[in-house]
Amino acid sequence: MPAIPTSQASDHHDVTVIGAGLSGLAAALRLAMFGKKVILLEKHYVVGGLNSFYAKKGIKFDVGLHALTNYPSQQSGKSSPLLKLCRQLRISLDSLNLLPQSHSRITFGTESLLFDNNFDFFISQVEDKFPKERDRFQSLLAKMETFPAYSVDAEDLSTRNILKESIGDPLLSEMLLCPTCYYGSARKNDIDFPTFVMLFDAIFRQGLARPELGIRAILDPLIGKLEELGVQRRMNCGVERIRTKGDKVSEIVLESGETLTSDQVISTCGAVETEALLAPSESSTPSTTEGKFSIMESIFVFQGNPKDFGWEETVVFFNDSEIFRYGEPEGLIDLRSGVICMPENYGNQLHNSDNKSKLRITHPANYDRWSELEQPTYESEKNLWEERILENGMRYLKNGKEVIDSFRAKTTFRDTFTPRTIKKYTGHANGTLYGSPQKRRDGTTAFENLFLAGTDQGYVGIVGAMLGGIAVANNQILRSI
Ligand SMILES: Cc1cc2nc3c(=O)[nH]c(=O)nc-3n(C[C@H](O)[C@H](O)[C@H](O)COP(=O)(O)OP(=O)(O)OC[C@H]3O[C@@H](n4cnc5c(N)ncnc54)[C@H](O)[C@@H]3O)c2cc1C
Repeated sequence: MPAIPTSQASDHHDVTVIGAGLSGLAAALRLAMFGKKVILLEKHYVVGGLNSFYAKKGIKFDVGLHALTNYPSQQSGKSSPLLKLCRQLRISLDSLNLLPQSHSRITFGTESLLFDNNFDFFISQVEDKFPKERDRFQSLLAKMETFPAYSVDAEDLSTRNILKESIGDPLLSEMLLCPTCYYGSARKNDIDFPTFVMLFDAIFRQGLARPELGIRAILDPLIGKLEELGVQRRMNCGVERIRTKGDKVSEIVLESGETLTSDQVISTCGAVETEALLAPSESSTPSTTEGKFSIMESIFVFQGNPKDFGWEETVVFFNDSEIFRYGEPEGLIDLRSGVICMPENYGNQLHNSDNKSKLRITHPANYDRWSELEQPTYESEKNLWEERILENGMRYLKNGKEVIDSFRAKTTFRDTFTPRTIKKYTGHANGTLYGSPQKRRDGTTAFENLFLAGTDQGYVGIVGAMLGGIAVANNQILRSI
């Protein structure tokens, strides 16, 4: 390791933020808005983390972004978390050009529930399909409204147990669990109740939308503002080690060997990953349980529009039976349930100039199984599963079986990523999407100047991660000024 130049070692900041995903970008911006001297360190060469972007064969892809949740509907009004985060970061909601979803669907076997951005419509769907559950569903809604989901002291209850007590028909419970688990659960076959309440509100009470220009509509203004405020952003700049002295972080060691110092550190790379950066002997916290939930997603780029095939929905959450199984599968991938997203079904979106659309199909996948494959087998398995994913997914789309051949003929490009890809580009242990099942809502750690923000703080998704970053900046660092 090269010697550390003293001039670099003296490059002192008020706050170091590790990771330029959505929580890190939001935290850095909030701190800079209040005059803090901030340095933002990112291992990858692009910002965005789990919600980044890339291009292949001239086609632009968002990594995630099936949906921006928390669409500020008339019912949610000014209390919408999305409006709150726009206010806190001084971003105009209008600048995002949000296109609302058409409608979405949860299908379990032969039963379906539709929802759109009008919560009353979802209530009417539940009442139509499960008339005996009408009163119990209303009581559950009332219980959720009074539950302090956003409080750092919110009790970490099992949603499955609460649904068992509250709802009579198990199928309704399973159908409610499905979208909320897919959008943010780190637990096998369950989701903690605070996260369930937050995501239920985010998906059903408020709703889904998509910025017309994709995730860059969010990332670009954040980067522009960080630059205006003089935040030092260093890309391709992985942190190798967090050194501590007593109960404080003393130095940040970069992969280049350079060291940095700051009064405070916010790490957004995950609890397990942050523990690995701290020398184990210096960490007095018990080690965090590793998350295991990861996914495989295949994206089919096709000529035309989903509506050409009669596909009207924006997102389809599907399960092949009445029992929802969520978690790490035994094999490479679990086809029994998944999520289909058709980004071109947001708004009355016109065709792209090249008249192409995307069909994205996502399934739970096993990191270890994908990781142990040699490269040629890895590639061939990806191709094999891509085809199986498509055939399986078509079962859940209108006339899917009949149109599959014409869909294949119109497909011009396919891309697939696995848990291995997620690990490679974000550093998340096990390629996990939602981090560890153990959350630290206030962001504190065993070290008094080290905080966690984002996924492992218990704030998930695009809106959640940004609110998490803002909350740590406000409550742990800015509260004293
Ligand atoms: C395929 C997919 C689809 C998704 N779809 C949606 C969706 O439709 N809607 C939604 O709301 N959410 C979605 N999500 C979830 C959402 O993307 C995440 O919850 C959110 O982006 C997490 O942000 P974060 O800042 O907490 O973490 P991350 O995005 O993981 O950011 C952490 C950052 O830290 C960096 N890093 C890691 N280690 C180091 C190190 N040692 N040194 C420096 N930097 C480091 C990483 O490179 C990364 O940029 C999706 C995620 C995926 C993967």
